[in-house]
Amino acid sequence: MNWRIPLADVEIGQEEIVAVEQVLRSRWLSMGETTLAFERAFAEFLGVKHAFAVANGTAALHLAHAAIGLTGGDEVIVPSLTFVATANSIAYTGASPVFAESIGKDDLNVSVMDISRRITPRTKAITVMHYAGFPCDMEPILELARLHHLSVIEDAAHAVGSVYNGRRAGLFGDAAGFSFFSNKNMTTGEGGMVVTQNDDLAERIRLMRSHGMTTLTWDRHKGHAHTYDVVMPGYNYRIDEVRSALGLVQLKRLEAGNRRRQELVNRYRDELTNTPGLSLPFRNSLQTSANYIFPILLDDAKRRPSFFQALKADGIQTSIHYPPIHLFSYYRERFGYAAGSLPITEDIGAREVTLPLYPAMCDNDVDSVVAAVRRALTR
Ligand SMILES: *Cc1c(COP(=O)(O)O)cnc(C)c1O
Repeated sequence: MNWRIPLADVEIGQEEIVAVEQVLRSRWLSMGETTLAFERAFAEFLGVKHAFAVANGTAALHLAHAAIGLTGGDEVIVPSLTFVATANSIAYTGASPVFAESIGKDDLNVSVMDISRRITPRTKAITVMHYAGFPCDMEPILELARLHHLSVIEDAAHAVGSVYNGRRAGLFGDAAGFSFFSNKNMTTGEGGMVVTQNDDLAERIRLMRSHGMTTLTWDRHKGHAHTYDVVMPGYNYRIDEVRSALGLVQLKRLEAGNRRRQELVNRYRDELTNTPGLSLPFRNSLQTSANYIFPILLDDAKRRPSFFQALKADGIQTSIHYPPIHLFSYYRERFGYAAGSLPITEDIGAREVTLPLYPAMCDNDVDSVVAAVRRALTR
């Protein structure tokens, strides 16, 4: 499809091209000093002690969940209204994801009240996801976690640059995972970052990222080491220099991009407020969102297929965030979920539509989408 207005678009310029070319000319392509520079820049941006660049956001979340020591028999409470990687990265460790409800139509983030109802003696952690970039209400979640001695992991894939009570998303959990997939607010094509303030978790993440080996190819190349020990069966979740070079440039573009996203969201909201047939979640959020996506909720789930068709006929790409995870075959069959298990989440999942949002969108594009939305709803 050649969309008139796509759902998302990357910001790539001459600087990215130059940065990648420099890496290629340097003849060192696997993880090395460009990756270290990317990690340092990202850590400084966030204000976090440790940041590890990895192959993708799912690997970042797997390392976060593995580092806190999850094993078979453990339970982790997690929203169902998120990308499946949030739950898959828990399942990799042998632990069981226990799905919790979203708050409701005004706030699609996970409900702390529902989390608290699902705590059992097996619960080891709470994993949150900052939907669309709107930070979860972390204070009550952290309080609940402290009370029950639970770890907290943040899936911050939507939230690079989001701020909750003056601190950036990714600083609240024991560890957090970011994604640099190609449609995210900053991209390396495929890539991710796992961050933590905790020195012990950082050491385990460092080992697990590269086979459980005590030295890196890079250390040996630099003459810092000749051999290595292996202290655990780790993974190969390394990023490479080409993608780290992209990430460094993309990080510099991030804040301007996020500001533009906020302007576009404000315009959408101004124009769509009081439109019959739909509602706008997160209208009451007092926090700073990275605005990764712009979600709306149709009043009537039955109208969604024809709504999609109408926008498609106008050349406008839309999407769904997300089909609830607990209704996917694997999660139904393995963990016993069924339709009706999470009624609030299922209702939102059936009514949500994601409209186009990316920094290069112009005001006129927003107006065109809004006009198409209005036409589709009155048809
Ligand atoms: C994009 C995304 C991920 C996974 O990131 P990848 O880099 O694609 O592996 C995880 N969780 C959420 C909520 C995401 O949006």
